[in-house]
Amino acid sequence: MTIRLYNTMSRKLEEFKPLLPNHVGFYSCGPTVYWDQHIGNMRSFVNSDILKRMFIENGYDVKHVMNITDVGHLTSDEDSGEDKMEKGAARENKSAWDIAKMYTDSFIRDITSLNIIKPTFMPHATDYIPEQIEQIKKLEKLGYTYEIPGDGIYYDTSKFADYGALGGQNLSELRGGLRVDDNGKKNPTDFALWKFSPTDKKRAMEWESPWGVGFPGWHIECSAMSMKLLGPHFDIHVGGQEHIKVHHSDEIAQSEPIVGKPWVNYWVHYEWLLSKDGKMSKSSGDFLTVQDLIERGYDPMAFRYLLLLGHYHQPLDFSFEALDAATNGYKSIIRKVADLITSKGSEHVNDAVYDEWHNKILDTVSDNLKTAEALVYIQELLKDNKVNAATKLKLFEFIDRLLGLQFVNRAQKLLDIESVEAPEEIKKLAEERVKAKAEKNWELADKIRLEIDSAGWNVVDTKDGPKIIKKMA
Ligand SMILES: [Zn+2]
Repeated sequence: MTIRLYNTMSRKLEEFKPLLPNHVGFYSCGPTVYWDQHIGNMRSFVNSDILKRMFIENGYDVKHVMNITDVGHLTSDEDSGEDKMEKGAARENKSAWDIAKMYTDSFIRDITSLNIIKPTFMPHATDYIPEQIEQIKKLEKLGYTYEIPGDGIYYDTSKFADYGALGGQNLSELRGGLRVDDNGKKNPTDFALWKFSPTDKKRAMEWESPWGVGFPGWHIECSAMSMKLLGPHFDIHVGGQEHIKVHHSDEIAQSEPIVGKPWVNYWVHYEWLLSKDGKMSKSSGDFLTVQDLIERGYDPMAFRYLLLLGHYHQPLDFSFEALDAATNGYKSIIRKVADLITSKGSEHVNDAVYDEWHNKILDTVSDNLKTAEALVYIQELLKDNKVNAATKLKLFEFIDRLLGLQFVNRAQKLLDIESVEAPEEIKKLAEERVKAKAEKNWELADKIRLEIDSAGWNVVDTKDGPKIIKKMA
């Protein structure tokens, strides 16, 4: 099947051609583990998961590397400000190492809740310090670096002719937009490869280097770890669109002199999840996490469903109204899949029909990850009377592998819950409610319904009379 992706480097939709047949190596920029990741960050991780699942369903062997930034990410992109890890440590009165461990764990909990397949490798920046030093030494030898005494080793972006080529940035605009440098940088776009520890205090995370004790700049970790784990030249590098201007431009500037051009064949960037006031951010400390959604009673799969209703290349608005609507849409599909499970009987899968729908849906997602269109096909599939339940169900198993929405799993859970028989006292209450309704005593009927509800059951009035169903946890 043809796979097409929008490449930020060429600014074109391109047919994907792997470096090695049926293999894909891809690198995605991971979290800086100094705080919980908000749901806006999660959009990026879900998109990478869809990209990966699409390749797997197309028969590719996927090697996915996602870094865990546990050092060197400063609060500003211009290499000033505090180290985010040390800031997190000060905020919570813990060591930087404890902060890294704690927020790596909460990140893994969140991606697990969202049914994101774990990357093949999740390297921590602090485990690859020698590799980062090695690359800085190479850049130094090639003449790309200079030292700012008392500050660090910097990359001289004027030495790299293609600086800013990613996304076709206008270099003079890019440089003009940055603050006039006051720390001795030769060009405003220059960036730190190695920062020196302050002389008057010991940092929690610092290492010896040929230039002095200190810590790596943020960008070099991605160059070092991607090359170490995927080889010097690999297929795809992804990240949020906020990385284009600085982080990814800097990664390219570091890597291409070392390995030659092009270092990466396809650059894919995701758009943001927007809150009412614009881009979600952690700076205010007021942000939503997956855990918050769960605590408010939302199914993380419904949030994932909401994300897939948009295209990764377009901003998507988040609101609780939108999440409620997505929850209803998601639940109605689960109901229908549950009915397919019950009605399947001894039907056989029709292979020709299966292939037709399978190809249609996979083709759509392989075309630059058009998940919203795939979800429309799913609705059409459910409505199509010519496709039997067994075939539909097998298609849903494929859809779950491709989109990770766990429709079949949730449908089975729903059936399990529905098959639990209500205890005698609840059945008795339900009978009393029927009586009250027959006597038009609405007030009493309502009171009984609330009583049943608070005991953890629902009474649903069907055409065959009231059904008592255990409430979903
Ligand atoms: Zn990165």
